[in-house]
Amino acid sequence: MAVLVCGGAGYIGSHVNKMLNRMGYDTVVFDNLVYGHREAVKWGEFVRGDLKDPEEIEAVFDTYPIEAVMHFAAYAYVGESVTDPEKYYFNNVACTLNLLRAMRGHGCDKIIFSSTCATYGEPARVPITEDMPQNPINPYGASKLMVERILSDYGTAYGLRSVALRYFNAAGADPECEIGEDHDPETHLIPLVLDAASGKRPDIKVFGTDYPTRDGSCIRDYIHVEDLAKAHILALKYLQSGGSSECFNLGNERGTSVLEVIEAVKKVTGKDFRVTLSDRRPGDPATLVGSSDKVKAVLGWEPKYAEIETIVEHAWKWHEKMGCSE
Ligand code: UDP
Repeated sequence: MAVLVCGGAGYIGSHVNKMLNRMGYDTVVFDNLVYGHREAVKWGEFVRGDLKDPEEIEAVFDTYPIEAVMHFAAYAYVGESVTDPEKYYFNNVACTLNLLRAMRGHGCDKIIFSSTCATYGEPARVPITEDMPQNPINPYGASKLMVERILSDYGTAYGLRSVALRYFNAAGADPECEIGEDHDPETHLIPLVLDAASGKRPDIKVFGTDYPTRDGSCIRDYIHVEDLAKAHILALKYLQSGGSSECFNLGNERGTSVLEVIEAVKKVTGKDFRVTLSDRRPGDPATLVGSSDKVKAVLGWEPKYAEIETIVEHAWKWHEKMGCSE
């Protein structure tokens, strides 16, 4: 039996695919390569296909004995989701229905879904716990929340069992440096600061310095991609052993401000670079930090690389390796 990794050529999916293979699972990666990278799929089978075409995903289930699905395939640019919501609702929601139909048709009843802290919107308090209201403030978060709802309804009606993992800020890279983060366009803080450190960009802009936080910049909960990957394996084992549908936050429970990330990059890389204080980016909540009590209690998850310096160090190693190959 194999695990189907939809979107396994992307940043988080490729790290999970590697870990699955290292743990002895057979995997089939299904990816349209719109944002993913073929070279990031170094383990398991690879099928190029698009969830928007029901026949392409049906064919995967006809060909391989799929026991469970991990579903990473989604668009994830918050700003773009505001200007082009159709793209997000179609890809993230409608295309997921094709995947779920193929699963049902083939008796596959286990799915681990990449959700997000963006489903909470502006939290009333931090750390955010799973039982807090989900009121997304952009179409990206709304599209992920819709899929959570669909999974819940399919569970009731069809017996599908799901684990929704609500990621906070995924960061870092494979400690063995075989794969890492490579978005185009890049909008995430850590890779952009590393670009400034390596001279690829002239500066790093701090989006907002007047937030009600300890230094005025936004606070986020950065979680190492390897720790995220580990949670997927634990979630799979949980479903394999008969666990019922659940949702879990995946964060470190520690907040790091934008200015603190920049300091960590300066320390780890030993490079100095220009920091430009800029206006707020629309739609950014001041502080997002997740409680990880539930995932620790139910899945036995523990982060291995919780320190921001370690996360930055692994990201920097990968950044330098990519720079050398350009
Ligand atoms: N950020 C920033 N400068 C940048 C990119 C991001 O100050 O060039 C800030 C952003 O406003 C947010 C934090 O860094 O407060 C993390 O942003 P990112 O896009 O990495 O993740 P998000 O929290 O939006 O998912």
